[in-house]
Amino acid sequence: MSRQMMVVSTLEELTTARRLLDEPLGFVPTMGYLHEGHLSLAHRAREECKSVAASIFINPPQFGPLEDLSKYPQDLERDLRLLEQAQVDLVWTPTPGIMYPDGYQTWVEVQDISLPLEGVKRPGHFRGVTTVVAKLFNAMHPDRAYFGQKDAQQAAVIRRMTRDLNFPIEIVVCPTIREPDGLAMSSRNVYLSLEQRAAATVLYRALQTAEGAYGEGERNGESLRQTMKDVVASEPLAKLQYASCADHETLQELERVTCKALLSIAMYFGETRLIDNVVLG
Ligand code: AMP
Repeated sequence: MSRQMMVVSTLEELTTARRLLDEPLGFVPTMGYLHEGHLSLAHRAREECKSVAASIFINPPQFGPLEDLSKYPQDLERDLRLLEQAQVDLVWTPTPGIMYPDGYQTWVEVQDISLPLEGVKRPGHFRGVTTVVAKLFNAMHPDRAYFGQKDAQQAAVIRRMTRDLNFPIEIVVCPTIREPDGLAMSSRNVYLSLEQRAAATVLYRALQTAEGAYGEGERNGESLRQTMKDVVASEPLAKLQYASCADHETLQELERVTCKALLSIAMYFGETRLIDNVVLG
């Protein structure tokens, strides 16, 4: 059945709108400023579910004090147009006051796998993510929720939380959508100057070079990390934060790659922080 997309803000409106949706319901949580990466999640949900809902919420607790919360890009009108074209049935756009009213004091924290990689560089980030996703799940009651491989650690942390807290929700992780030159799509790419944008192809190039070495038989974790670092060092505008070759499940750094592994990388171009990853094996 095709009908007009519903856009709601309050919890009461959401509850009423949710009752009108057929099941199974697929859910795509976002922070808005949508691009093809986000839309690929909505398309996948559309293929697999009777109804599709999305949320647009820039979640303050997942930003550190020195991060880009106040200047995070926004264009709600355009986002809604794109979601409507993607045949989304319901969009929830709560405010920070709805999600975290006065007196709010409950947090959801996944322990070990929140700690390495992004957890080291962005302390408290995943506590903000898991808390908001748990709240979104509790309000939306989806059957499936769609996340991007682009944020591999986030997907792993959310999968763990979903299991640990018995959410009856299937977590679906979808492939990273890239620009033609390989740069992973990200709302933050708009911050890059032309020069930085050209330099940013180094992320995927570093991952691909290490993936190539793995393809040729390299199994030493440190060598794969060093391969990525060497590629990044050739790009003067890139400031590397980490280059990791870790166990795909535990996210612990590997000495030897004998299982499925996650190659991941984070770096700054000026003030803009970008991440990317590929899976080996
Ligand atoms: P965000 O708005 O950045 O919180 O992202 C919302 C969802 O879109 C998350 O599950 C992301 O992993 C996913 N996502 C962001 N960029 C991409 C991309 N380039 N390809 C696939 N999924 C993405």
